[in-house]
Amino acid sequence: MDVALAWDEAGWERLAPHVGRRRLPVWDCTAGLVVGGDAALMIEAGATLREGAELRTQARGILGGGRRVTHLALTHPHFDHVLGAAAFAGVEVYGAVGLDRLLAEGREELRASAVGHGVAPDAAAEAADLLVRPRHAVCGEWTLDLGGGVQVLLANVGPGHTAHDLAVLVPAGPDSPEIVFCGDLVEESGEPQAGDDAVPERWPAALDRLLDLGGQDALYVPGHGAVVDAAFVRAQRATLAARFGVS
Ligand SMILES: [Zn+2]
Repeated sequence: MDVALAWDEAGWERLAPHVGRRRLPVWDCTAGLVVGGDAALMIEAGATLREGAELRTQARGILGGGRRVTHLALTHPHFDHVLGAAAFAGVEVYGAVGLDRLLAEGREELRASAVGHGVAPDAAAEAADLLVRPRHAVCGEWTLDLGGGVQVLLANVGPGHTAHDLAVLVPAGPDSPEIVFCGDLVEESGEPQAGDDAVPERWPAALDRLLDLGGQDALYVPGHGAVVDAAFVRAQRATLAARFGVS
């Protein structure tokens, strides 16, 4: 399977022959795509239905042959990561255990947060009304077989940035390193955002679990910003531990 050319054409950054990511405009949320022989996993859904639909369309271009996204992983319940989920109706949706309930009960908060961050009120209301909730709750770790020898590991590594932090590990292949999609547990483009829903005292331990998953040589893909290495994640762990006064 070689989809290398299609990543560029779709405006995506190729991380491995079968793995890419795109930094979405405005809020700079990273979306990821992992392509297997039978199935394709999108990571994050974008901030609006329109953004989700764009991601889905771009994925079809990358996949080719009439293939489409079959699985969606949501790393945590912030508007810029989840509000496009309705564009993926019909796919298998995964989140950390408890995310489905939080999204059901927290629609209004999500809508208000989106509007507060500059999403048009109509678009925010539409996306919150139609929000698709995860049907698959990940406790611990969940291996997803995408076919063609491609498996990914969904890992409930939180809490930290939120109470529902999910990471996605793509194991190393013959011509690719391990790749860890970190959600907003790691941010490169600015200081990690810690809101009212963060669990600061547990955040450093969540980064330890991320580092255990990916190891020394992995590419770590932050929720916002450029791809980083293990040294960056370790440094961010130290900074957060000092900031929150935990070890
Ligand atoms: Zn976030």
